[in-house]
Amino acid sequence: MAARLRDDLPDPLTQSRTRPLFVMRLDVQPLQIVGAAPGVYRRIGVVRGGSFDGERLSGEVLEGSSDWQALRSDGSTTLDVRLVLKTTDSALIGMTYRGIRHGPPDVTARLEKGEVVDPAMYYFRMAPFLETASAEYGEPRWPAPRSAMMTDVPRPPIPCPFVYADGRQCTGVIRRARAYGPIGRDGAVARSKVRKYRLWCSEKDDHAGVVASFEAKQRMEFYPDQLEPGVEDQLWSGGLLI
Ligand SMILES: [Zn+2]
Repeated sequence: MAARLRDDLPDPLTQSRTRPLFVMRLDVQPLQIVGAAPGVYRRIGVVRGGSFDGERLSGEVLEGSSDWQALRSDGSTTLDVRLVLKTTDSALIGMTYRGIRHGPPDVTARLEKGEVVDPAMYYFRMAPFLETASAEYGEPRWPAPRSAMMTDVPRPPIPCPFVYADGRQCTGVIRRARAYGPIGRDGAVARSKVRKYRLWCSEKDDHAGVVASFEAKQRMEFYPDQLEPGVEDQLWSGGLLI
């Protein structure tokens, strides 16, 4: 019997070894819905910016990157993303990735609403490629991962800061946040210029006095000095601002 193709595979190819490269958070504008074009339902997320943080590679994601998504007839979503990363020492890295997300309809619906979902409940993988002209991060001085494997990391829940008149803390978590203040040249509100936050909370109880209904959830407004520093920090680092 002829040898099987998989026999005599060299050891390095019998198992893959990976270690975390970085965790990345993107601040994405509300999706631009192109809609049902022939052959594809297209929507596009424009990236305002973001950050990435790892032992070997950290920095910021530059404004103007984009995420072209296609909703497919089997309920899955594919991604086609182009990003420019700027490392803490100012090297630029081009990063592209294709990705696919698929899961039960109820789980997908929760993800679309921005809820935190256990990553084991759905499939989401991205295959990035990175390229740089930097002597520091390119071959051969730095073992640059020219390709890698990615998945999403659940966002830690941000507790609702609302305190009821009887002193009880709301047990909900923040679903969405928006910052209001003078818009800078880049079209975004700088953190130091924020005059007011509007937060949306998962709790359906009545936030007495500041209630307005939004998709059956509650929203509230806070001045920056009314928020615990920890909550404000998480709003920014969590990439929740839209
Ligand atoms: Zn709340």
